[in-house]
Amino acid sequence: ELSPQILGGWLDAFAAEVAENEALLTDLDRQIGDADHGANMVRGTKAVAALDPADFADARSYAKKTAMTLISTIGGASGPLYGTFFLRLAAALPDDGPIGHAAWLEALRAGVQGVMDRGKANLGDKTMLDALIPATDAFENEPDHPWQSAADAAAAGRDATVPMVARKGRASYLGQRSAGVADPGATSATLLLVAAARTLA
Ligand code: ADP
Ligand code: MG
Ligand code: MG
Repeated sequence: ELSPQILGGWLDAFAAEVAENEALLTDLDRQIGDADHGANMVRGTKAVAALDPADFADARSYAKKTAMTLISTIGGASGPLYGTFFLRLAAALPDDGPIGHAAWLEALRAGVQGVMDRGKANLGDKTMLDALIPATDAFENEPDHPWQSAADAAAAGRDATVPMVARKGRASYLGQRSAGVADPGATSATLLLVAAARTLA
């Protein structure tokens, strides 16, 4: 079983990564958005880090509370998307028994599908999905070191957003001028996988 404590370790590490990279997220969003992604993500992940895993009976209820907290504190386009990721992930977590590679894969896939359903975006649209989709594929394909592979694939996916022209979200208003900068959400989503590789591997 995934304990609330282990889930909390991941979420705390995510908050730490976001805090360390706030200026980068702000700067990317300044170039192709409205310069609030750093502040949005710091606000959201800090609120989640303030939750106490010991207050939850299981990882599923904790992940649901995490989702609601992210939705209500991040705001913008990314808040509901990160929230949906954790809502769907929570729903897909096994009731009991150990959480192994297959169960984690199912939970990640459900979370990513939630982001796709909610935002109507896909691979290549220059969004957080350009980190999340390759990360989940790598998680599936590298069962010996799934989290590190997912983090590496997320980073490569983030880098691949640089030349892309945005087709979703605020950056898409810029048209061709959105090319040349990494997507802020793909950058923050990479931090989520980096935090996972540090804590769940
Ligand atoms: P806002 O654009 O409302 O200011 P943020 O700056 O917090 O919100 O988040 C911007 C990020 O949200 C983008 O970099 C992108 O990764 C992500 N995003 C925006 N729209 C979508 C969408 N439809 N699907 C997936 N991700 C999206
Ligand atoms: Mg923004
Ligand atoms: Mg905004």
